[in-house]
Order: sequence, then structure tokens, then C-alpha cells
Amino acid sequence: MTPVSALDAQAAALDREHAATDRRDLFLLPDDVVYLDGNSLGALPRHVPDVVARAVREEWGTQLVRAWNSRDWWRAPERIGDHLAPVLGASPGQVLVGDSTTVQLHQALSAALRLTPGRGVVVTDPGAFPTDLYVVDGLTEARGLELVLARPDEVPAVLAARGTEVAVVVLQHVDHRTGALWDLPGITEAAHRTGALVLWDLSHSAGALPVELDAHGVDLAVGCGYKYLNGGPGAPAYVYVARRHQPAYVPDLRGWHGHAEPFAMSPTWTPAAGVGRARLGSPPLLSMLALEAALDVLDALPVPRVRERSLSLTRFLRTCVDRLAPGLEPLTPEADEHRGSQVAWRHPAAWGVVHALAARGVIGDFREPDVVRLGVAAPYLTHSDMLTAAARLADVLATGEHLTERPRPLVT
Ligand SMILES: *Cc1c(COP(=O)(O)O)cnc(C)c1O
Repeated sequence: MTPVSALDAQAAALDREHAATDRRDLFLLPDDVVYLDGNSLGALPRHVPDVVARAVREEWGTQLVRAWNSRDWWRAPERIGDHLAPVLGASPGQVLVGDSTTVQLHQALSAALRLTPGRGVVVTDPGAFPTDLYVVDGLTEARGLELVLARPDEVPAVLAARGTEVAVVVLQHVDHRTGALWDLPGITEAAHRTGALVLWDLSHSAGALPVELDAHGVDLAVGCGYKYLNGGPGAPAYVYVARRHQPAYVPDLRGWHGHAEPFAMSPTWTPAAGVGRARLGSPPLLSMLALEAALDVLDALPVPRVRERSLSLTRFLRTCVDRLAPGLEPLTPEADEHRGSQVAWRHPAAWGVVHALAARGVIGDFREPDVVRLGVAAPYLTHSDMLTAAARLADVLATGEHLTERPRPLVT
């Protein structure tokens, strides 16, 4: 048998074995693409267009301003937060939906710094998503604090050396480039032993693998609504504030929706009890409702089942690429317990590889400087898709389609 036909049989067998977790039926996806970018923008759940259209026509169109009460718009940030909570392993009343990840991270870090007075060091990962680095850098600069850069696996050593000085550790749970899954329970515990707080960015883990914030005693977390949660472009983000921190959670930006009595129209800010104090101003209701509906997918296929399927898919993708397209240097850890839900490789012509692949209907991502990143949103992908992607990758490399000139950026 040729390698492809042997892998074909394996893909078919794996797809039969995992048939119960194939929920492509819940999504509207074009048939002519293999979509490996759900970690950048999740696919469209099939029922979301109708939910949003109905909200526009019936809630906005006929209820008008009354919908804030009659359709429970006012409570949407808390209500959708509670819908999301099980995905994060949180009990109700600790998750709030709204604003962007950038804003939520800034807010949560500013509040964390008020919870840790007298400590002068913030620790973060030099490989963090750029916006996270900018936020952490900006806030430490504004507060006159020292920023220490350490990879997540070096953080326990930093804590051992300087623990009593560390206020907050800010880390991504899954590395957005490499797909490495960091030790959330271990790092959280190490930080707590020294009295530091931990703020986790779950953008590349929530919805793809179990997070268990309550069980691991996490202090604060934020994440993105439009990746594995499939909330749509620019979907609202979320913040988790552990119940024990809520009474003293006071972020830099304070808005009238987070007031204890918003309609008292008081000139001074009295924070609401509970996680509602993390609210700012009027939320983007239509985007909120799209995200709320999208979360039904993770009710139908709970996260532990998503993870089972994702591990099998990413393992098989790795096998197919190793066999069919050797020469790519894997960047993603091989062990299941250290891998998120994507596989990334280095290649000197990575930009050309990603663009040639897209021309062949396989949509992935290029990341600077030389990374080919294939995201695996398990509910709507199959093992056959993994094989198709690897086979097309092999074709691209064999034909030299990837050796195209990279256009110069529009803005230099
Ligand atoms: C996707 C992502 C973001 C995006 O932030 P936005 O404010 O939603 O643009 C931030 N942090 C991480 C770790 C991400 O993966």
C-alpha cells in the first residue's frame, strides 16, 4: 500500500471510532475547505444566524428599549457568563462576558495589583500573545513595577527566588504559536505558596480542553469569545473572578453598568456585589446574543468529549505530516498532556506554505517568523480532514508552490 492509502484506512477507522463526537452537523461550513483556523475565528454554528436575526427583528424591532427588561438584555453579561462557567470549570456567579480580551486583561491585572499591595514584581511569558505583553508592559510601567519575563516552565524557579516580591503572574494557558499546554495547576499552586496571584489567559484553551478554574484555585482568568467558543468575529471576551476575590475586585476602568445601583445615577461609583462589578458600559447586545447561542454547541458536546476528539485529531495530523511531509520541524509538544488543540511546525518558507495550502483549500495560519500553525477545532473536523490537510501540504512542498515571493507589508 502507498503511505496515503494506509493512512486513508486509518483515518476511516478513527472516524468510525469517534463518530459520536463528530458534530459538524451543528455548523455551517463551506464544503470545499478544510478549516484549520478555528483557533483564530471559530466556525459559524448553524442556528446562530436565526437567533441573531430574530433578536434584531423581534427584540430590537418590536420591544425597543423595553427589551432591556422584557428580554433580559440587562442581565446578559452575567447570564452568558453563567452559561460559559461550566466550560471553564467555574460555579455560577464568577464569570462575566463583555468587552475584548485586551480590555479584560488590563482590567483584571489592574484589580490584581490592588489585591497585592507592597509587591513590586509582575511576571509574564516573553512568548505571550502581543496584546497581553503590551497590556502587562503598560500597566507595570504606569505603576512603577518591575516586569520579569520568564517562560511558564521557568516561573516556578522565579517564584522560588523572588516569590515574596511577586504580585501577579500573567500567563497564557496554551501558547498561541506553539500550542504548548502549560501546567496551570502546578504554576497556580507555586504562586500561591509565595502569596502571589495568577491571571490566566484562556484564549487558546477554553472550549478546547478542560480548564477547571475552581478546582485549581485560580484567582483570575480572561479569554476570547471568537476562537474555540465560536462566538463570531469580535465576539465579547470574558473574565473569571474567583468568588473570594470579588469583594475587593476594583479595576482601573469603572463603568455605570458595574455600579451597585446603576439607575440611581449616582455621581460616585459604588461597585455591585459579585462579578457584576466587572461590567463597564452598555454591552454589544447582538454580539452577546450570538455568543450565547454559540455556547449551545458545548452543551451538546461537553468539553471533556471535545478534548478526547481533539487529542486524537492532533495526534493523527502529526502522524500524517510526519509520514507524508517530512522536513517540517515540529514546534508543538508531542505528549498529549503538553499539547493544546493545534499543531505547529517551523519551515523557512512558512508564509508561502500557508498561502499555497489556502489555495488548495486548507486554511491555516502563518505566524512570524517561520511558523505554520494548523488549529484543530475538534467538533467540526474529522481524521479524514487531517489526512487531506497533510496530503495537500505534501503536494505543496513537492511542487514548490510554497516558493513564492512574500509581498512586502503594506505598512512598514
Ligand atoms: C486571541 C488572543 C487575544 C485577542 O485579544 P483581543 O482583544 O480579543 O483582540 C488576546 N490574548 C490571547 C492570548 C489571544 O490568543
